[in-house]
Amino acid sequence: MKPTNYCTSESPSFVMGIDLGGTSVKLGLLRGEELVARDQISTAHCDEPSDVFRRAREFSVAALHRHGATFDALESVGLAMAGVIDEATATLMETANLHAWHGIGFHQELARVFQKPVAVINDANAAALGESSFGEHRTDSLSFLTLGTGIGGGIIVAGRAINGSHGCGGEIGHVTIEHGPDARQCGCGRAGHLEAYAGAAGIVKTALEQLEATDQPSSLGAVDELTPEIISAAAECGDAIAMETVRRTGVHLGRAIAMLAHIADPAVVLLGGAVNFGGNQTRTGRAFLRTIRSEMVRLSLVQTGETLKIDFATLGNDAGMLGAAQHARQLTHQADPSCSNE
Ligand SMILES: [Zn+2]
Repeated sequence: MKPTNYCTSESPSFVMGIDLGGTSVKLGLLRGEELVARDQISTAHCDEPSDVFRRAREFSVAALHRHGATFDALESVGLAMAGVIDEATATLMETANLHAWHGIGFHQELARVFQKPVAVINDANAAALGESSFGEHRTDSLSFLTLGTGIGGGIIVAGRAINGSHGCGGEIGHVTIEHGPDARQCGCGRAGHLEAYAGAAGIVKTALEQLEATDQPSSLGAVDELTPEIISAAAECGDAIAMETVRRTGVHLGRAIAMLAHIADPAVVLLGGAVNFGGNQTRTGRAFLRTIRSEMVRLSLVQTGETLKIDFATLGNDAGMLGAAQHARQLTHQADPSCSNE
């Protein structure tokens, strides 16, 4: 399946992507599909969103100039940010790490600073869109999970990110994978959600539960504060409890991805984020992937599970910024009837 194509009748226009994180802001200028300039600024020196956007605009003016273009050549600007975003008003409804900016109309503020068409998108949706448009596994039918402190998700159908009616489309971290009285409490307040098992704290809990339940020697027993990285390193050295922790985490993810497979039927599911047990470079990372896949296949219809590809994401921290730019381009072209997606 090919990625969606956009206007190619004229020379490629410039579009800008901004990925607003808790501590830093990534900026990128794209000409067509090529990232021609990039920068990163710290949010520590920015009291308000308008400070960030003004600096982003200065970056775009300078970068365009370096490429022989004026600010007029910038077609649109996309902004990715963590949290639940009301698509109608582009207001941040809920966020984990930008509390001071809660409730601000980012769309309006961005448009005021840039005086260009702008688009705002949830960061996990942006990362999904970035991977589907620019990553190694390009396809217009893709789901993406970010594995970290929490578990974010984005679902791309027909080349577009699903935001949903309440801004919560693709929140795969909060699907229920365990029922019953022993189901773990999720950070959101509900029980049995994927994040409570495969988020960083959930993975540590899986290891601690085993350490308590067995006398089996493990290098993890001597560690004061376990982290997924420590568990990953111990698993790579053959520690049985660490390996079992990775396996159980894979089973939990496989269950959630099986649900996803029956809802969105993606061609590819990608895993991004910091918790990847070493990714494709390590034995542990590859075993993690195999466990996820076999559990997903075990629970899925043959037509879906057998052909669904699961792999690690390839764009790293650039995915959100690239996806934000792509989202802006899609909305601009949607609004312009002279553009065709064919
Ligand atoms: Zn939850």
